[in-house]
Amino acid sequence: MRKIRCIILLILLGNNASAHNPQVSTISIIQNENNKWSVFITAPLYTCQSTIHENYPNIKIDSINAFETQKLISKLVNESLMFNKDSNVKLINGKIQLAHETTLYFDIQSDKAEFNPSEIIFKAFSKLANHFTLLKIVPNKGQQITYILNNDNKFSYPKIKTQAMTISSIFNFNKYFDIVSRIGVRYILIAGATFIFFYILFKRKIFYKKIQNIFPKNSDYIREFTYSIITVMIFGIVIVTIMGNPNIRPYTKIYENIEEQGWLYYFAAFPIMLIMHDTYFYWTHRIMHHKLLFNTFHLVHHKSTNPSPWAAYAFHPLEAVVENGIFIVFAFSFPLHESHTPIFFLFSVIYNIYGHLGWELYPKGFNKSFIGKWVNTSVCHNQHHKYFKGNYSLYLLFWDRIMGTLREDYDMAYEEVKNR
Ligand SMILES: [Zn+2]
Ligand SMILES: [Zn+2]
Repeated sequence: MRKIRCIILLILLGNNASAHNPQVSTISIIQNENNKWSVFITAPLYTCQSTIHENYPNIKIDSINAFETQKLISKLVNESLMFNKDSNVKLINGKIQLAHETTLYFDIQSDKAEFNPSEIIFKAFSKLANHFTLLKIVPNKGQQITYILNNDNKFSYPKIKTQAMTISSIFNFNKYFDIVSRIGVRYILIAGATFIFFYILFKRKIFYKKIQNIFPKNSDYIREFTYSIITVMIFGIVIVTIMGNPNIRPYTKIYENIEEQGWLYYFAAFPIMLIMHDTYFYWTHRIMHHKLLFNTFHLVHHKSTNPSPWAAYAFHPLEAVVENGIFIVFAFSFPLHESHTPIFFLFSVIYNIYGHLGWELYPKGFNKSFIGKWVNTSVCHNQHHKYFKGNYSLYLLFWDRIMGTLREDYDMAYEEVKNR
């Protein structure tokens, strides 16, 4: 009797287990010794049939032959597996073995030499209930990744949405201190060296050449320096929020290997960045001169009516955010290599410090030369600080000239300084 009871219990449990038994599929993305990637998918036949049924409700599974079933499964999987959000990555050489445990195989074809499956989207089994998928990424070097997808068969890997939204996952403090110290040290070294050379060591000897024949007060230097440090800290927040945030970084167009876009593109990007920044600066600068915005955003920068190198970053925190907006424009508008922005902003800070230097470094006659007519100078920006009106440009005089905002007394002022 006891034996019979046990058998009945086993049968019941067995039935129960099969009714609730979750289906398990495995997606393995494997790199061979020639660095080529392939995909192996194993899925229970029941899973494949259910998927066909869910996606093609008009097709009766029993009425189609094995060959058609294979074709449909292969097509479904192929269409729903996507790598790195790149439609040029294709699954080719598809093979399928229909069995109780069905196996599919594809080679991954990419036009990029160094393809790596960093983002994977798969939706084929998304409508199935009680289904688990196991994702494995097996590179020929480095660490293997195993990723279990409970019930959620429509997935994106890395699974960004379900990541715990802790402050440290959104804002990487280590990266923040790293970036702030780098931008800060770069600024202090360049502005500091310039300040020591022009405002301490040779101040008397070259005073007669100073654009405005008066030195700012010590309190001016302290104010400019303090606001500059706050600006550096704000630049760090903007940069880390974009670059260090795993929810935002994938949407930027920043790439890692120069070969991805080629060397010609690499060098061509710099003048494009220059023109974009020049345009961005001119127009945001003009907007900040509007009477509704000037006091809040831009007055701090204009407290330096006789600027020193420390005025280069002396912005109100709100203006600092506006100034750093160009970084956001760059990150999202066109492919930039990781080294593009550090090199470009190194040039930018040098030019900016030159613009606030207080001495003119370009030669006599430069303002009227073929090239010099279109290049912003220290005299030009110094006039902007002295008079508040006109000369809004940053690197070039293009916008000032075509918008008619270049001061009429610019050439006179330039020549007066260079004739001394
Ligand atoms: Zn201004
Ligand atoms: Zn300025």
